[in-house]
Amino acid sequence: MQSPVLAIVLPCYNEEAILAESISKLQAMLHQYIADNLVDHSSFLLFVDDGSRDDTWLILQSHISPNLKAIKLSANCGHQQALLAGMHYVTNKVDCMISMDADLQDDMHCTRQMLEHFANGSHIVYGVRDSRSADTGFKKNTALLFYKLMQRMGVNLIYNHADFRLLSNQVLLEFGKYREVNLFLRGIFPRMGFTHSLVHYDRQERTAGETKYPFRKMLQLAVNGITSFSSVPLKIISVVGFIVFAASIMASLWVLFVIVSGRNVPGWASITLPIYFLGGIQLLALGVIGSYVSRIYLETKQRPPYHIEKILLQH
Ligand code: UDP
Ligand code: MG
Repeated sequence: MQSPVLAIVLPCYNEEAILAESISKLQAMLHQYIADNLVDHSSFLLFVDDGSRDDTWLILQSHISPNLKAIKLSANCGHQQALLAGMHYVTNKVDCMISMDADLQDDMHCTRQMLEHFANGSHIVYGVRDSRSADTGFKKNTALLFYKLMQRMGVNLIYNHADFRLLSNQVLLEFGKYREVNLFLRGIFPRMGFTHSLVHYDRQERTAGETKYPFRKMLQLAVNGITSFSSVPLKIISVVGFIVFAASIMASLWVLFVIVSGRNVPGWASITLPIYFLGGIQLLALGVIGSYVSRIYLETKQRPPYHIEKILLQH
């Protein structure tokens, strides 16, 4: 059987501190795979520069070769969008692709196992972190909470899997049917089905540079994940609304009883407490509904998720 054409897609944003090292390691690995006949000689690395403001693009430019291509997005669009740009680009140009972070925190040697699974018929291979020793306690716990929450809301996620995965070209083609702007890739692939398998690895520490996922972006990703896959928060609002409604009827009955029984007291607490309580719940509910409405707003506009400024390749 002919060996498959592979593309490794790596989004990068302000990665000048680590990029050159990543490139040389990845190139060495790819050349080894080609030498071992594991992948076709036309396989390549595809770096997507997500609107970096440092020298990321210059470094990429200086490394262009037949096995290293680069796409420059016109502005910072976010990790998921950069990955999307890479996925769109490689669709129908390869037999399979692997997405990976440019900092190589995910063990790149797992790609060999991924390719073996692909050769054995898997269309999707998920990279799963066995330990999160490199992450802070805070990141570990918030991530765990997020997976649990998503599961409770009926969203199928692969536990401890981020965006390190292999996809066959067929999956890429089917993925092209998704037209949503509010993209949460981790939720999409498990729901697509296909023959799949898992590869386990230990996540390493970043060797240089710092995380491009501060708490704000992590929270944004989590909210995106929830609102694009689950309407459970809207249902919770209805339930809470109903409970509060029932409670206020009981309270009214109690107030009537107090008035009728003549034990009328200056009712400061009974007036102000419900005002705060109901006001708070209403604002919360409006906020949750608002976040769904804003997604609808974004989806109806159908804006392109990214713009490509330049593509660098060498044949
Ligand atoms: N990244 C990106 N655009 C962004 C933020 C991050 O392309 O707006 C890339 C980043 O360069 C890296 C990957 O996404 O290759 C994951 O980011 P990072 O390693 O900072 O996240 P962490 O591993 O800390 O969760
Ligand atoms: Mg990282």
